[in-house]
Amino acid sequence: MTNAFAETPPPDARPWAASWLAQGAESYVDGAWHPSTDPTGAGVERRNPATGVPLGRISYACSDDVHTAVAAASTAFSPGSPWRSLSRRERARVLHRIGAIIRDHEVELATLIALENGKLYAEALHDDMPDTADVFDYYAGWTDKLYGDWSPVDTHPGADTEALNIVTRDPVGVCALIVPWNFPLLLAAWKIAPALAMGNTVVVKPSPFTSFSLLRLVDLIDQAGLLPPGVLNVVLGDAETGHALVTHPGVAKVSFTGSTAVGRAILSDVANTNLATVTLELGGKSPNIVFPDVADLEGCIDRSFHLMFSQKGEKCSEPTRFLLHETVHDEFVAGLVQRAEAVTCGDPFHPSSTQGSQCTAAGLTRLLSGIADAHTDGARLVAGGVRDMSGTNADGFFLPPTIFTGVTPEMRLFRDEVFGPVLAVTRFSTEAEAVTLANDTPYGLAAGVYTADSSRARRVANALDAGQVFVNRYGCYDFAAPFGGTKGSGWGREMGRASLDAYTTAKSIWFAG
Ligand code: NAD
Repeated sequence: MTNAFAETPPPDARPWAASWLAQGAESYVDGAWHPSTDPTGAGVERRNPATGVPLGRISYACSDDVHTAVAAASTAFSPGSPWRSLSRRERARVLHRIGAIIRDHEVELATLIALENGKLYAEALHDDMPDTADVFDYYAGWTDKLYGDWSPVDTHPGADTEALNIVTRDPVGVCALIVPWNFPLLLAAWKIAPALAMGNTVVVKPSPFTSFSLLRLVDLIDQAGLLPPGVLNVVLGDAETGHALVTHPGVAKVSFTGSTAVGRAILSDVANTNLATVTLELGGKSPNIVFPDVADLEGCIDRSFHLMFSQKGEKCSEPTRFLLHETVHDEFVAGLVQRAEAVTCGDPFHPSSTQGSQCTAAGLTRLLSGIADAHTDGARLVAGGVRDMSGTNADGFFLPPTIFTGVTPEMRLFRDEVFGPVLAVTRFSTEAEAVTLANDTPYGLAAGVYTADSSRARRVANALDAGQVFVNRYGCYDFAAPFGGTKGSGWGREMGRASLDAYTTAKSIWFAG
């Protein structure tokens, strides 16, 4: 792959992207591009989900290729290797430089994300890109701030000297990082940055639907010569490639973001093979509770609508269940419908589009089936509900904001994650009922509560079973705050200090005599 860009990225990177994508994509192993060694692996063609136009082919890594990648990562992690010999300050500089590269190339990276994912280019550029760069700076700052511990151990009877026990935090080794398609670069960066900051080496498997943006970033890092070979590897492929990676005996840590079903499968696969430590960021069906004393109803509708429907509803922690007090229900729903009707689905690069295309055909099918279930179960459709195939949208996977009211806990839409712009609205009358409804889900990723009563805010926040609870502003995120879910939404946490724990292992060292 070559860098077709001059120093200054063009304002419209699509012509560049078309030729770059047409080269096709290969895995990146041990500091070099690595075509699949599977003789049948001619590659899979990827298409722009908004238009159906071919983007380029990707060559799937077979289990031999995965083995080569893990072996390269193991060698790069071995004692005395260039990576292990790098000082913490130098490691921090490398991470800062990766952040700077992302900023310098945000236009082309955002273009690739919009082309392969179908989200608005503006969302890719303004939502995905800044955090993707900043998370490298955030974890660069941690490289020399991870302290160990000292344990208050007793002297053993009969021993003539005091024992001393100290606990160090060491890198775990080779990390297998599995990434979904909804934030292809950002969620990869959430894993790569802390894993490298703590001194590990990584093998990343992006989603087969959205591999190009990550490969371009790796291409840029490679051209800058920032990392020794084998420190950062990328294997392309689907479930088979992912399975070969997470079960490889050389892998010490698995960090997975994706669906709950695949998360469960990975846990069981890992339990029966390498017993790697596992972090899982999984699905959600998050509630957003609005009490009658909400301070700013219009502002709450605006924020809630945006959090639910931006990025065409393909966000794991979005509030897909609105629990509305009976006294605000009708006004709130009217406000949602008004905003839904103002949305324009269309070309992610066109300035008049306010919603892009769903990323995959399977995702759209799942959404349409969830809509059919909601009709069958007796929910009331008040907005959207029909695929948009108008004009130039005919070959894309467009689904306008879809809102069902009267959704009850018995209905499938109340509990099934459909992962897209389909909202379930439920009416409640008491605080206790709201909490029961909110927690009546197999998931526990996030929850929101809107009320001007601080006692109620505390009571409800304490009672909600979720990894994130947002009071009076759904969807606050910061690298410093832990992110993750309870129940079917995950295992462990990412971000902040949680990722330092996730990518290190404690070693208890005894000094006696
Ligand atoms: P997915 O589970 O189908 O795939 C995720 C990744 O796992 C892909 O790279 C895929 O190729 C790989 N994979 C599939 N089977 C595998 C196996 N057996 N072993 C190893 N890897 C395997 O999810 P998706 O459709 O890409 O993403 C959507 C899902 O991700 C939704 O459920 C969403 O809620 C969830 N998600 C969660 C978070 C979070 O932080 N909690 C964030 C984003 C998305």
